[in-house]
Amino acid sequence: MTVLDIRLFGDPVLTTRAEEITEFDHTLETLVEDMLETMDVAGGVGLAANQVGVLRRVFVYDCSHVEDGLRGHIINPVWEAIGEETQTGPEGCLSIPDISAETTRFATVKVSGQDLHGNPVSMVASGLMARCIQHETDHLDGVLFLRRLEKDARKEAMATIRRSEWFNSEH
Ligand SMILES: [Zn+2]
Repeated sequence: MTVLDIRLFGDPVLTTRAEEITEFDHTLETLVEDMLETMDVAGGVGLAANQVGVLRRVFVYDCSHVEDGLRGHIINPVWEAIGEETQTGPEGCLSIPDISAETTRFATVKVSGQDLHGNPVSMVASGLMARCIQHETDHLDGVLFLRRLEKDARKEAMATIRRSEWFNSEH
């Protein structure tokens, strides 16, 4: 397995929509394994393919510290809210280091997609896993969580980013 470079805010790949996956071959399996390894090393709970520079619709997740077995991948994910209840809590992103901001998401969602073999998979998730599904699917649509913040919180986050060493060393 290989630890991949995580693309940071400002990289256009993060604001580009990823393409549906139609070929379920061994390159996809390698990508998923490498993404899991990369997420683990970075200490994240989710990672979308855009974040490693690949515009294919797949994300990996690991919320197993919250609930046993909540680790894996979803290909071509599509989610819908179950009910109208929302959750507001701190959210961060491996592509935007050192930023954490209160973000509102649906409390419970149902996600459907495929596994590495193209077989249909689905799950109903709440709490952190529901937040992860919404955050990672946003990535695949080229949307960063900053867009989900209230205006003032977004301004504050942007100001912090502009002062960040990682941002200024890349630009
Ligand atoms: Zn993210």
